[in-house]
Amino acid sequence: MSKPQGASMYESAKKIYPREITGRFASLSKLATIVLLGLFYLVPWLQWDGHQAILFDLPARKFYLLGLTLWPQDFPYLALLLIIAALSLFFFTALAGRLWCGFACPQTVWTEAFIWMEQFTEGTRSQRMKLDKAPWSWDKLRRKGSKQFLWITFSMWTGFTFVGYFTPVRELGLDILAFDVGGWTLFWGLFYGFATYGNAGYMREQVCKYMCPYARFQSAMFDKDTLIISYDEARGEPRGSRKRSEDPKEKGLGDCIDCQLCVQVCPTGIDIRDGLQYECIACAACIDACDSIMDKMNYPRGLVRYTTEHSLKHETVRVLRPRTLVYATLLLVLIGLLITSMATRTPVILDVIRDRNTLYRELPDGVIENIYTLKIINQSNHARTFAVSVSGVDGIELDGIGDEVAVDGGDVLSVPVRARAPRDNAYGIMDIHFQVKALDDEGVAVSEDSRFLGPTP
Ligand code: SF4
Ligand code: SF4
Repeated sequence: MSKPQGASMYESAKKIYPREITGRFASLSKLATIVLLGLFYLVPWLQWDGHQAILFDLPARKFYLLGLTLWPQDFPYLALLLIIAALSLFFFTALAGRLWCGFACPQTVWTEAFIWMEQFTEGTRSQRMKLDKAPWSWDKLRRKGSKQFLWITFSMWTGFTFVGYFTPVRELGLDILAFDVGGWTLFWGLFYGFATYGNAGYMREQVCKYMCPYARFQSAMFDKDTLIISYDEARGEPRGSRKRSEDPKEKGLGDCIDCQLCVQVCPTGIDIRDGLQYECIACAACIDACDSIMDKMNYPRGLVRYTTEHSLKHETVRVLRPRTLVYATLLLVLIGLLITSMATRTPVILDVIRDRNTLYRELPDGVIENIYTLKIINQSNHARTFAVSVSGVDGIELDGIGDEVAVDGGDVLSVPVRARAPRDNAYGIMDIHFQVKALDDEGVAVSEDSRFLGPTP
């Protein structure tokens, strides 16, 4: 089919003006937004054991999670945590559909906050539509200007908070006040702030429709027993307007009065009556809208409701089914694995690096000497004193390090040591074992093997 001359191949996105709505799910959504955003902005300011409670200190390669300090060596825990998060998403999607999208996704939560600011400065849906169509005036400038001020301030604060998860937030605040911020810090703060401004202020539902991969593959996790938001077609059709006093049955109508309220409140601009659509983020605004109409008409609530495909067809709904059971079992096993491995984790790491420049040295008093560098990493949050020893060759001793060494919490001690053994016991290549043991807790001990070289027999 040929394209008419001058016609565009693309349909430009129409701006959506979601209508404000009250109801059970709107209250839940507000609560989720306040709690989640509250946590995001508050958490970096919390302290734990003298350090920021949650801090991903990339330059120092340390992650602080409350009382836990994770090092690069602990990467498997982080990987396990991410796998658990992904599997939880699969599990809850199979069980309850796109609950995450509707109430907890950052895009939804920030968009909600931006819409509040928009309503505060520009008014209700119809006022906003009228304002956009109106020519520029002092009032329009004042309203649009106030909205931009709130959006930009909020976005900048969001960028600052985001960077505050990677750089100690209190120092960052002081640096900003002193106009002394590093280039990368500035870049990431502005980048995240700008992304928030663009995604929550302008892109909104288009992020969910066109950019979010989850929206594309979540349908693969759905089955006929997954909780979805759906319009009860059998009850609602044929739709049509009527007076409140009229009996719909006499007019041959279903319960849908075709008021369009469910469409007007939809943040993605779809009509739930057209069936399950990938654009639906399950925010439940259409449930609140339709329930309010049903109340006005004195009809039972639930024409649009949380339900399942099986339930709509009056078939048996199974919560426990192979898919959910497999996800739940895997989830339990992985959570168990994570808890066990974290509980049994030794908060000290020992690295032994043998000096490769010299094989061995023979001292005048008949002693063979090998040189090593010991790296003791104290992963706990408090200073510890460790006893350091070596074994594996009769009479072997350490020189260059005392019997005990103190290492600060979360610190690395790197110290060169000399292992010495009598010549008569030190021929050829021998395995030796270094051990580091905390004096305040016998359970905190770690050992590392190395080689001790001597002359050929
Ligand atoms: S159809 Fe309903 S639940 Fe889905 S996005 Fe629109 S308002 Fe939210
Ligand atoms: S809000 Fe309810 S009654 Fe009104 S159009 Fe939507 S489904 Fe029909």
